[in-house]
Amino acid sequence: MVRTRIAPSPTGFPHIGTVYQALFDYAFAHKYDGQFLVRIEDTDRGRFVEGAEDAIFSALDWFGLSEDESPRKAGPHAPYRQSERLEIYQKHAEDLLEKEHAYYCFCSKERLEEVRNKMQAEKKIPMYDRHCRNISLADAKARIQAGETAVIRMKIPDNEKIVVPDGIRGDVIFDSSVVDDQVIVKTDGFPTYHLAVVVDDHTMEVTHVLRGEEWLSSAPKHILLYQYFGWTAPEFFHTPLIRNPDKSKLSKRQGHTSVTWYKEHGFLPEAILNYLALMGWTHPEEKDIFAFEEFIKLFEFKDLKPLGPVFDLKKLEWMNGQYIMAMQPETLKQHILDFNKDVQLDEAIVEKSIPLVRERMKTLPDYLAIAQFLFTRPTTYEKDLTESKELLMKVHTKLATVESWQAEVIGDAMVSLAGELGVSNSQFFMTLRVAISGNKITPPLNDSMELLGKDECLARLEIAAKQ
Ligand code: GLU
Repeated sequence: MVRTRIAPSPTGFPHIGTVYQALFDYAFAHKYDGQFLVRIEDTDRGRFVEGAEDAIFSALDWFGLSEDESPRKAGPHAPYRQSERLEIYQKHAEDLLEKEHAYYCFCSKERLEEVRNKMQAEKKIPMYDRHCRNISLADAKARIQAGETAVIRMKIPDNEKIVVPDGIRGDVIFDSSVVDDQVIVKTDGFPTYHLAVVVDDHTMEVTHVLRGEEWLSSAPKHILLYQYFGWTAPEFFHTPLIRNPDKSKLSKRQGHTSVTWYKEHGFLPEAILNYLALMGWTHPEEKDIFAFEEFIKLFEFKDLKPLGPVFDLKKLEWMNGQYIMAMQPETLKQHILDFNKDVQLDEAIVEKSIPLVRERMKTLPDYLAIAQFLFTRPTTYEKDLTESKELLMKVHTKLATVESWQAEVIGDAMVSLAGELGVSNSQFFMTLRVAISGNKITPPLNDSMELLGKDECLARLEIAAKQ
């Protein structure tokens, strides 16, 4: 049975990196008829952000990556929010204390600071000096009874090689002497990530753990905890950090780390997923665009590559454009209407304009940027029309005679008029285009004019001639 999970912390907006993990976890679980879980890791109360959990779930829903078990979906291992599992961690911490794999530490902040400074001055890796490691459990308990506060630390063995098997990188070997006696329970009784993640992944029967490479250095601690508890560790896959094209770390400042940013900027969830799938994975036929179902069939964790994937917004825009182009017109219409719901576009015009506009769209806001003139008359003109009055009135007169208001007929009438007047086609149509739309670049003009209707076009020509 395959069980995967994401374990986001509700500390801010939903991050695109979380979606990246969720995509692979979801695909792998679905491929093997397993389950995909969402566990909320909210033990760091200082960083807790109200509403962040809901935002994670709305993001998953938007992408269609809904989970099988989570705080909002009942499952056999509830609760799925760490702050509601404190007793479970306490019980397991107690177990480690009894087995002497962990110990109480009473060192004050000041003392720890001193130790750290001293080690840094000696150019050593700053680590806890194990001052409390030999206090017996009975003595420690007596001190706590008497009112002292303590954290619980795990005991790291000396001079051992700790092997972290990683499905993407192979075995990664750590020397235990560079691993700190990690705090696993804080003075407030909350576990740290390290204890909680191991206890939860085990008790929730998670089989495959995919997470960012920033957790790789913590993995030896986790491997030891699995050994201390006598449990089999899940398979680990540490994905490389997603980078910007300049190789810098994808950061908040760059704007596009937040899922909401993509939604607000008119990206389609299916295009984003397709793009993310290609970051670290290659389609066997090297296809760029493929359906999500196809990805689920083909994807294996082991095929992920350890190279840092580059997030190129330009490429994503291109891909989004491809999805827009391939979309059913009816679906695209709905997307456009939803995206612009504040301005309430005329549905019939949207429908008719789609064939004219879609090829020029990369994202949803491109629609109105291109097609605004189909809904409202221009108020400014990208080209000075003061010299074109006469020409525009001649066009007006000619078009007034056109009976069958169709793109082709309009086009023929215009070409013949340009010929009669001895004006080059390109100059003629540019003037007309600006008069009708205000813009130098538009979708095909004749079709746009057909869509606008005869009366509206004649009215616009008159207004433009008065400039
Ligand atoms: N809570 C951790 C995070 O926010 C989860 C790491 C993991 O997947 O083990 O990234």
